[in-house]
Amino acid sequence: MTILIDATSPKTDDIAIEKTALERYVAPAKPSLVGLSRAALAEALGAIGVKPQQQKMRAQQLWHWLYVRGAQDFDQMSSMSKELRILLAAHYTLARPEIVAEQVSIDGTRKWLLRLPGEHPGEQPHEVECVYIPETDRGTLCVSSQIGCTLNCSFCHTGTQRLVRNLTPGEIVGQIMVARDRLGDWLGAPRAQAPGLPTQGDRCVSNIVMMGMGEPLYNFEAVRDALLIVMDGDGLGISRRRVTLSTSGVAPMIARAGDEIGTMLAVSLHAVRNELRNELVPLNRKYPIEELLNACRNYPGVSNARRITFEYVMLKGVNDSAADAKELVRLLAGIPAKINLIPFNPWPGTTYECSDWEQIEKFSEIIFNAGYASPVRTPRGRDILAACGQLKSATEKLSARERLALRAMAMTD
Ligand code: SAH
Ligand code: SF4
Repeated sequence: MTILIDATSPKTDDIAIEKTALERYVAPAKPSLVGLSRAALAEALGAIGVKPQQQKMRAQQLWHWLYVRGAQDFDQMSSMSKELRILLAAHYTLARPEIVAEQVSIDGTRKWLLRLPGEHPGEQPHEVECVYIPETDRGTLCVSSQIGCTLNCSFCHTGTQRLVRNLTPGEIVGQIMVARDRLGDWLGAPRAQAPGLPTQGDRCVSNIVMMGMGEPLYNFEAVRDALLIVMDGDGLGISRRRVTLSTSGVAPMIARAGDEIGTMLAVSLHAVRNELRNELVPLNRKYPIEELLNACRNYPGVSNARRITFEYVMLKGVNDSAADAKELVRLLAGIPAKINLIPFNPWPGTTYECSDWEQIEKFSEIIFNAGYASPVRTPRGRDILAACGQLKSATEKLSARERLALRAMAMTD
């Protein structure tokens, strides 16, 4: 991998990185410990002969090295004996997803292209992207849950790709590990020095949004297990208020997500009438708006302090009229809600266009007057933003529109 960081170039604000040739890819031979729960770590230790009475303590040590220190080599684990480190290295790795390319923008936005093995040995590897959006007081990482998506939302680029497979907990947690590795965001590690990184708080990656490729509630167990690791106070330590799971509306899974994961919830609403939503988000035919909003009303832990974010992509002449805005306000009455207007990010082959800025402002004003704070996030002087949602396997420059879409999705109040 070649990493080229040019944060000062006056001509271009993104630097594309040369990709590693696929032929050079070697699928991992040994399993990685990244993404295992404490119980699974204890089991992995048992499997290599660590005595039962020692397993819990050793698992806790591994946990610390993995998720607080970000160890990439067993040799770093100075609290463990040399013999145990050699034994561990003989059977396991601490591997994260392989970085194929990295892009660093002058505003600090970073995009990593990651390579993941195929489902079966010998199969072609897959690629997913992971995007980091820093601000003064936080850094948000947009994480994928699947390779591709089964749901075919008509405005989403991911929806045009078939589902290749679910990500494992290790691959989901691994996206965060990669970001922290590259940013030096581990206890005792030298911090990356580049413009745009957060200057407040003690973390570069402080917030997670499950808004990359895939529908997280269709990969429930892996997303749950991964997020429980992400939110563990003795490990990666990102609090549940700083983790947002975005769903296209898998209504029957919403209560379970609240009970078993307990993060903030974002719902991709995008339309206020079933007829139109059936078209934009075909899952609506299964779980129509009323059923979805009922599930939101009953989301465990929802309150004015923990509002649900409703995402609404602005599509010119499709869902962006003043009447739509009024209906949106009416529909959400009684639900502790925030509204995120996302400028549509076009992709080759789409027939949709992004609403005109004037129209977005009109729409936004109706929502603002109904009491919702700043529903559309303007670039605030800095240009910014890159797009999740339709992450694609190419390291192109982030367009201004992509940046705007991503910033809106990063939901940085
Ligand atoms: N599958 C989940 C999470 C991933 S998509 C979901 O649908 O919620 C994250 C957000 O990006 C969703 O609100 C999605 O509707 C939105 N999105 C997808 N494609 C987009 C595009 N081309 N422009 C703007 N937003 C888009
Ligand atoms: Fe899948 Fe979400 Fe894209 Fe719909 S918007 S196709 S659910 S990733």
